[in-house]
Amino acid sequence: MIMARRRTFEGAHVERVLEIQSYLSGLSRNYVQCLEDWDISLQLQHTVKRILGKNRVEAIESVAVDDRWNFIPGSEEIIPCDTLLLSVGLIPENELSKKAGVMLDPITGGPYVDEHFQTNVPGIFAAGNVVHVYDLVDWVSLAGVEAGKSAAEFALAEKARTARYIPLIPGKNVRYIVPHKLDKQALEQGDIHLQMRVTRPIEEDVWMEVHGENNSIVRRSERYVRPGEMVTIVLKPKMHADVEKSGSLTVDIYPKSEA
Ligand SMILES: Cc1cc2nc3c(=O)[nH]c(=O)nc-3n(C[C@H](O)[C@H](O)[C@H](O)COP(=O)(O)OP(=O)(O)OC[C@H]3O[C@@H](n4cnc5c(N)ncnc54)[C@H](O)[C@@H]3O)c2cc1C
Repeated sequence: MIMARRRTFEGAHVERVLEIQSYLSGLSRNYVQCLEDWDISLQLQHTVKRILGKNRVEAIESVAVDDRWNFIPGSEEIIPCDTLLLSVGLIPENELSKKAGVMLDPITGGPYVDEHFQTNVPGIFAAGNVVHVYDLVDWVSLAGVEAGKSAAEFALAEKARTARYIPLIPGKNVRYIVPHKLDKQALEQGDIHLQMRVTRPIEEDVWMEVHGENNSIVRRSERYVRPGEMVTIVLKPKMHADVEKSGSLTVDIYPKSEA
């Protein structure tokens, strides 16, 4: 969507944006500012079936897809154009991490990290899009500060930090959570941001709940959740006693109507 607007700024006519998912996979803000404001149409559940042209692109054939991304026969359309811009997502580049023995999460494509952004290899920290793809750079900056501070503390420490980790488990409608694990003691020192993406959009009031095996730790409400927009839940030091009782924390995101 950003590139569609950028091409428009540069004088191109953008015919349309095709999105294979049945929902917007980018930020709603970008939809409004990059497409709506520039009269560029978005076709959901559509993709490119063929590229036509001999020495250069002359047209594409678009096609509608069903929920399993199968082409829907008869929905094909030839769209004349001289350029096709493919935007198919970011994959964190982790060649160095792999060589260093850093464990990667197959869902995010980035390292497993704790609340200080330390990987499974002591002394190797990771922050930003290399861990998971952020929507807003402000969160990247905060993660960078935390990782840098923690790396400095690690370098200056005379003995290794003892941690009592518990896993953070993606529950109902949660695709992944960063950090992946949490040192129970860390909560005594300040807020911890749990950041996640949902599996599917819910366009109604939702509860976002963190709970242990038998106890609810925190629950907050949101007007909607969408896969294109990162979700944040804050754990506060006052929740330390509840977290202390838990062997793991699970995050569920569900419509209030189903509560
Ligand atoms: C198209 C697009 C538009 C966006 N627009 C916005 C926006 O409008 N507002 C907003 O808040 N956020 C926006 N974001 C999100 C935000 O920009 C990113 O989340 C942020 O830039 C990520 O920062 P980063 O430092 O983790 O990664 P990057 O900005 O990607 O920086 C990583 C750097 O590491 C370098 N690098 C990679 N491998 C190595 C290596 N082996 N050795 C040394 N250097 C290496 C790369 O060259 C790169 O310069 C946008 C993202 C994209 C992709």
